[in-house]
Amino acid sequence: MRRWCCQPLPADNVGNPKGRLPLLDLSGLISGDRDRSIDALAAAFPQAQHLQSAETLRRLSVQGGRQPALERLAEMDPVAYSRTRNHVGGAVTGLSPWIRHGVVSLAEVRDRALARVRAPEEAAKLVSELGWRDYWQQVHAALGDGIHADIERPAALPRTPKQIECLPADVLDAATGMHCIDAFVRRLHDTGWLHNHERMWLASWLVHVRGVRWQVGADWFLEHLLDGDPASNHLSWQWVAGTFSAKPYIFNRENLESYTSGVHCGPCPLLGGCDVEGDYERLAARLFLPAAGDERSTPLRIRPAAAWPPPIGSGVAAAAVRPLVWLTLDSLSAASPAAAAHPESPRVFVVDPAWLETERPTLKRLLFIFECLADIPDVEVWQGTPRDVIAARAQAHGCRQVVVAPTPCPRIRRAAEALSTELPIVACEWPRFCDRSRVRDLGRFSRYWSQVSASALQPTA
Ligand SMILES: Cc1cc2nc3c(=O)[nH]c(=O)nc-3n(C[C@H](O)[C@H](O)[C@H](O)COP(=O)(O)OP(=O)(O)OC[C@H]3O[C@@H](n4cnc5c(N)ncnc54)[C@H](O)[C@@H]3O)c2cc1C
Repeated sequence: MRRWCCQPLPADNVGNPKGRLPLLDLSGLISGDRDRSIDALAAAFPQAQHLQSAETLRRLSVQGGRQPALERLAEMDPVAYSRTRNHVGGAVTGLSPWIRHGVVSLAEVRDRALARVRAPEEAAKLVSELGWRDYWQQVHAALGDGIHADIERPAALPRTPKQIECLPADVLDAATGMHCIDAFVRRLHDTGWLHNHERMWLASWLVHVRGVRWQVGADWFLEHLLDGDPASNHLSWQWVAGTFSAKPYIFNRENLESYTSGVHCGPCPLLGGCDVEGDYERLAARLFLPAAGDERSTPLRIRPAAAWPPPIGSGVAAAAVRPLVWLTLDSLSAASPAAAAHPESPRVFVVDPAWLETERPTLKRLLFIFECLADIPDVEVWQGTPRDVIAARAQAHGCRQVVVAPTPCPRIRRAAEALSTELPIVACEWPRFCDRSRVRDLGRFSRYWSQVSASALQPTA
């Protein structure tokens, strides 16, 4: 078992009244200075240093906090986006780390996109990609931890049924010999960000060519991606694997070459004989058994989850004078709904040891998160079981209510449910991205999007 928690800080940490995990005050790790943050985080989370040096961290071009996100928003070009997004050099926004952590909301990005075009249709491509994120979030809310297992039977069966349970060493070392794959791996490790097409190619090659279980690849991505998000990540891996889609995603060299302008294939030692050479029909026949015809008899239906947290009586909500603001990985900003609605209230972010243990975030992810935290005035950061931390801090501040921005995260939802027996938990809603009131089924994005896309193309009222 890996050890992930930092050493207990002595002195004035609040002891857990029920004698579970001790609560550790990590607020001292917050710093506006990148060098100091790197040193402090490296000391506090020694296990998070795998596969990257302090030097690569110092060079990271992405910085947490709202100002860098607003600068990216200002550069967004929805028209160029719709023309070029599939090319790795295309006009993509690069906003995913901030969107994932709720530093900017989907509605805010949509509103900015609409403001930059003459007619809403010109922003439709970008808005539909935001829609994918919204969709994955809804599916995660509906299925909870169920997203970690196959949602459907695989759409096609591999010729080699045995799946590899860990990442092959040549992949981790970026030494597969495939110029493209090795470049993607190095960039994932060094920068924590890949273009969507690069993610699809890497995932597809790992799962369908190398026979790695999709969960292994998904967990690896989650360690490194600055936008690492179980919903978008695990569900995209399932989409590629064909366990949550009509067919598995495969690509050939021609496809990769045309969306990378040939930068990988030209210098590749395997040019002409690599794993993805040839037409799709031949590739599919090489990778998958012929369909038996009885794979899936009924279309997948997924019922949307109820609103979370459940609405509580308005009397209780109104009685709270000064609630505690609970910031989560989905709301790491003073501009996120609960913090913005209660600017005078104490704000608490919890580093959950169970999250560290399962997602194994690398130092670059932690650095991004702590840079976001550094941008939130007076935020407290504690390590401990979320339920215990929030209960203890609410008591310490005399708060009789907790406010939180909705999140699909099952860990937060379970903690909130346990807490709600002692403290009312109240939602501060995100600005509306789309109208989901008619959605009864989340089985496919196309069905979801046909119900909500018209409302998603309307600016916030
Ligand atoms: C295997 C795999 C794993 C992925 N893991 C993640 C992840 O952990 N976190 C994450 O945010 N995205 C993930 N994605 C989705 C997508 O690749 C990234 O959101 C996108 O590449 C981020 O770059 P961008 O901000 O320039 O996106 P843009 O193309 O500029 O899009 C704007 C925003 O829309 C959203 N978005 C766009 N495409 C998608 C998509 N296909 N799915 C979900 N949201 C989308 C993102 O929030 C993005 O920032 C994954 C995709 C694949 C294929």
